[in-house]
Amino acid sequence: MSLDLSSRADFSRRVLKWFDQHGRKHLPWQQNITAYRVWLSEIMLQQTQVTTVIPYFERFTARFPTVEALAAAPIDEVLHLWTGLGYYARARNLHKCAQTIVAQYGGEFPASVSELSELSGIGRSTAGAIVSIAFQKRAAILDGNVKRVLARYHAVEGWPGQSDVVAQLWEIAENYTPKTRANHYTQAMMDMGATLCTRSKPKCEQCPLREGCVAYAQGNPQDYPGKKPKKALPEKNVQLLMLRNPAGDLLLQQRPAQGIWGGLWSFPELALDEDAQAYVEDKFGAVAQVEEWNSYRHTFSHYHLDITPVLIQLAKTPAVIGEAAIHWYNPHQPDALGLAAPVKKLLEKLAQLDPRASPASAASTKTPKSPKAASATIAKSAKTKPINKRQ
Ligand code: SF4
Repeated sequence: MSLDLSSRADFSRRVLKWFDQHGRKHLPWQQNITAYRVWLSEIMLQQTQVTTVIPYFERFTARFPTVEALAAAPIDEVLHLWTGLGYYARARNLHKCAQTIVAQYGGEFPASVSELSELSGIGRSTAGAIVSIAFQKRAAILDGNVKRVLARYHAVEGWPGQSDVVAQLWEIAENYTPKTRANHYTQAMMDMGATLCTRSKPKCEQCPLREGCVAYAQGNPQDYPGKKPKKALPEKNVQLLMLRNPAGDLLLQQRPAQGIWGGLWSFPELALDEDAQAYVEDKFGAVAQVEEWNSYRHTFSHYHLDITPVLIQLAKTPAVIGEAAIHWYNPHQPDALGLAAPVKKLLEKLAQLDPRASPASAASTKTPKSPKAASATIAKSAKTKPINKRQ
């Protein structure tokens, strides 16, 4: 799409003017700007809202003030600080990328889109954001917010997941990015997408791009960008085996680095049609009680996982347990482990049910920090199974 010079300049001039008056300038990563802080914030902001990211960003930068500190940290600690942000591949890539920056670049981020794009977890748009914001050099970005603004402004048809549609949007983004104040322009485009040109109910009346916006003129901004063609998500079913020893500690296993919840700690998993009691007796020894909880759904981007938690009281603590790394977890003195979100919720629920709960901890578990966390989705059923009657 060819755009004449004056319309390009007019577009960026209007965006920058809006930024000067309304753009966000007080976010934590907009202070003491460094490539490290910009990179960290950009990775955290992928698929995640600003308000959610802020406390994570502050905890991360307090614990890992430099890329060297992050590179030297154990991955378990990184995953622990990431717990709750989701999309854990981002945390693993973050750690790997920090190690590459230290090993190959002496701790200095490269200042070019091409070199940055070679690093783990950094795509073209993230690289563009780092180059423009941290190094104040001209580089285009095209995150979800910017795609929406540009798709509407030019009424670009089609879903941006398709290569021809995204190529068209990149061309527009490159065209509009100005040579000067690229840092402010980048921030402004992200802010406009997040606060004005929102997915539903865009605030066109306040938008500096209203004049010239094709979707606005047509009266159908919500039709852009085009939706992803619908495909029913497949469903999977598993049992999560919450093995509790006589002391009340719960067995966690570290998951393999690849696959869902890679590197995080979780309960042993078993196919839904397997006999949980027989499996546990075979692997871990005698079982004192089995209690099946109501199942609930956890949805990933590519499938639904229906989880049936099963609380299994072991008669004694088993001596040797397979090859996977294991950990006996005391819900009242939790260790700093990276936990998958559904496992974290189950552990919170188990902490409430644990007879060892001290009055103080019992009181605190009655009002969990996140009220939804321990209650809504995980209702405990009263299905305590007789010990010798297998299903
Ligand atoms: S005028 Fe409305 S649809 Fe067009 S870019 Fe602005 S907010 Fe988005």
